[in-house]
Amino acid sequence: MIEIQHLTKAYDGAAASAHALDDVSISIADGDIVGIIGMSGAGKSTLVRCINLLERPTAGKIVVDGQDVTGLTGKELRSYRRRVAMIFQSFGLLAQKTVLDNVCFPFRAASGRVTAENRERALELLDMVGLKEKASSYPSQLSGGQQQRVAIARALACDPEYILCDEATSALDPASTNTILKLLRDINRTTGVTIIVITHSMGVVEKICRNVVVLDHGRVVEQGSVGEVFANP
Ligand code: ADP
Ligand code: ADP
Repeated sequence: MIEIQHLTKAYDGAAASAHALDDVSISIADGDIVGIIGMSGAGKSTLVRCINLLERPTAGKIVVDGQDVTGLTGKELRSYRRRVAMIFQSFGLLAQKTVLDNVCFPFRAASGRVTAENRERALELLDMVGLKEKASSYPSQLSGGQQQRVAIARALACDPEYILCDEATSALDPASTNTILKLLRDINRTTGVTIIVITHSMGVVEKICRNVVVLDHGRVVEQGSVGEVFANP
């Protein structure tokens, strides 16, 4: 489980009163699909960057399965990042590589090479997201929804415990958004991977999340099951 404890982030040069995150505490249980929702400026990107350790918190810590990860560096940091896979709004695929090579990328990053077994696994993952027949295509030949499905397959290649989705459907039309959300929910059910959905969209949270955290001006203002939180006027 991920325990975010009293996390505070103040950017250098920002006014002391303007913390991007201010004493944020969030508990994310294994196997959950949790939404973190807030308007622009609420601190969502800062929280994502703190969770994947692109930013270091000013105060507080992030404890994953009992281990404080906020100080990790080098090899330990790389191994932590494989446990927490990322999916972005912009998909982040390599344009010059085929779909299959994109999904194999984490294998290459981890060991410097891609084995026949790795390739088999990548094809399995592409099958899971319904794109096995696109293995030799390039990202530009795919629709946005399809590119995001490739990004999901790539994320799963690390065998992550957590998938952090940063506005993962914000660039997609409603039909593709639904396809992606349904896919994430199926993956959560079949693999038990914990999914953290960062979004500005209430619709996304209502469709997929069991629990939700509402951020506003860097603070947690609501936290609980989707039914509880959204029943509050
Ligand atoms: P969101 O993703 O919810 O829109 P952000 O995390 O991007 O929120 O921003 C939270 C606050 O932190 C905002 O007030 C924003 O202006 C500020 N902020 C974000 N990034 C930086 C930065 N690199 N330097 C200074 N202030 C920043
Ligand atoms: P998804 O719902 O997964 O986003 P779409 O319904 O948008 O997929 O795409 C339907 C079909 O149109 C797909 O088989 C895809 O190959 C094709 N297609 C969509 N966008 C593009 C594109 N930019 N270039 C090539 N083919 C595309």
